[in-house]
Amino acid sequence: MPVRPDSWTLDFTGGQWILSYLGCPGSSLRLYARGPVTEGTTDGEKLPALEVSGESAGFPVMAPIQVHGTTVIRAEETSCLPARPRADGLAIDRTKIAGTLQFADCLPVILCGRSPFPWVVIGHSGFAGTGRNIVSAMVAYILKTYGRQALECTTAWIGPGICRECYGRNLEDPWTEWGTKVFPREYVILKERQAYFDLPGMIENQLLELGLSESAVSRIPFCTRCRNDIFYSYRAGDRQRNFLVARLIPSGHKDGNSWENDYSSPFFFQESQFWSVIIDGAFARWRYRGRSPWLSSCKGLHGTVEYRPRRCC
Ligand SMILES: [Zn+2]
Repeated sequence: MPVRPDSWTLDFTGGQWILSYLGCPGSSLRLYARGPVTEGTTDGEKLPALEVSGESAGFPVMAPIQVHGTTVIRAEETSCLPARPRADGLAIDRTKIAGTLQFADCLPVILCGRSPFPWVVIGHSGFAGTGRNIVSAMVAYILKTYGRQALECTTAWIGPGICRECYGRNLEDPWTEWGTKVFPREYVILKERQAYFDLPGMIENQLLELGLSESAVSRIPFCTRCRNDIFYSYRAGDRQRNFLVARLIPSGHKDGNSWENDYSSPFFFQESQFWSVIIDGAFARWRYRGRSPWLSSCKGLHGTVEYRPRRCC
């Protein structure tokens, strides 16, 4: 599959690696890899958003407990933090709510479209999730909720996640045996008492079998284990997580650099008594609230940090 170079960017700003998925207008889709924003995501327990979930200001954040299953749920206020429903797929079809998932070698799968209105469905597809075909559950959700035409105009991304060369599993492990039965032969290589699983290849094949066209699917050409300098990798020993934040942008707002959003006018700065530094409109909003040194130090994070007064939302 050809990599569409225009479908993503990888930025390193202020010590933070951020992969942005591009090409779906009206959405903001970012994966926070290594860096200060994701430091607290160890084993999913110290989720940055959880630390601040007692706050009521700002967007509700959906951060489900991921169980390697195939459940897809809609992002709604009742299921946002501090609630943590069990799910590995999230559908976001309204603004002012953020959907998040965490990864370390498992693969993010992102589907988005604008028919009949803007929506994004994100999924967590690791070994078990790929074997169980969470992608088909995501597509079933799209068909049921947004209709067949939505699927015809869907854009998809796979990854980043662990590559086949890095994903050898011990053949004595019962889960490995399960995998060798579930994965078609072309996605498993047996070598020296190990089975090597091609998760990105299998996910891509699942998407194509479900009716997406090749030109609609992009693979992010990074393995989290091979590029452990950029991404967290469970197999490389990391206990932090790459953190995907997905949301829809209200029409009239531009995603991206804060100055484009007209938030940086002198008038705006004088008017505001309190500040929230929002990283992707989600979890960092509460974390860095106030007139803290963060405000100035975060200015170096061009394109990733926005400044808004609390009353804005
Ligand atoms: Zn690799």
